[in-house]
Amino acid sequence: MIEIDGLSRHYWLGEQRFDALRDVSLRIEAGEFVTITGASGSGKSSLLNLIGALDRPSSGRLVIQGQDLATLSEPQLAAFRNRMLGFVFQQFQLLPRASVLHNVALPLLYAGVARKAREARALALLTRLGLAEHAAKLPTQLSGGQQQRVAIARALVCDAPLLLADEPTGALDSATGAAVMALLHQLNRDEGRTVLLVTHDPGIAAGCPRRLRFADGRIVSDERNASEALT
Ligand code: ADP
Ligand code: MG
Repeated sequence: MIEIDGLSRHYWLGEQRFDALRDVSLRIEAGEFVTITGASGSGKSSLLNLIGALDRPSSGRLVIQGQDLATLSEPQLAAFRNRMLGFVFQQFQLLPRASVLHNVALPLLYAGVARKAREARALALLTRLGLAEHAAKLPTQLSGGQQQRVAIARALVCDAPLLLADEPTGALDSATGAAVMALLHQLNRDEGRTVLLVTHDPGIAAGCPRRLRFADGRIVSDERNASEALT
């Protein structure tokens, strides 16, 4: 599903060059659940933003579902993002003045789905995630854990096969974070969604089948559970 070869991303801060990602190569198969850990500044978000087509690499190759992202124009990239991937952020990033239902339905608007169908699909998804009773509320009327589950619903509403999550439990207490992790595992196990999750919490990564560790813009370890390696 994800093929990365020699991927690099540097930033210029005035005269000074900063290498956020250095020659990263990686394969992730459809249906995997992969975590990325590493110190702050090690390049985790830079990688996720490139895979999520929110940013372009300085060099290297990035292929998702057979599509080389470098060959896509900005409008094609936007369509690709909408169809292929859902992004979940630490700070939820829900629209504060729109209802929960509208927040979840919004990506379907960009996908050109008619209003009635948008609302029906968003409500069906909220129901499946146990959030239907909150559909008419504003996001701020929900707890942090509920808001993150709404953000996950928004990420899933276009049926994207790939879910990218950047510190999705970072703003939550550990019990609420565990509930969000349980939902991500369930979506991976029961629906075969591929999940790529950044976390600075080694405890969260420990419960996941494949664990990448980043340091200084490079992958320094790639561990799998024994049972996973056999399959
Ligand atoms: P992480 O998510 O692991 O904390 P990031 O990928 O956000 O790390 O950042 C890696 C490095 O790249 C950091 O040192 C950061 O300061 C730098 N960086 C990230 N984004 C930018 C940017 N837009 N401009 C300049 N430097 C950046
Ligand atoms: Mg980060």
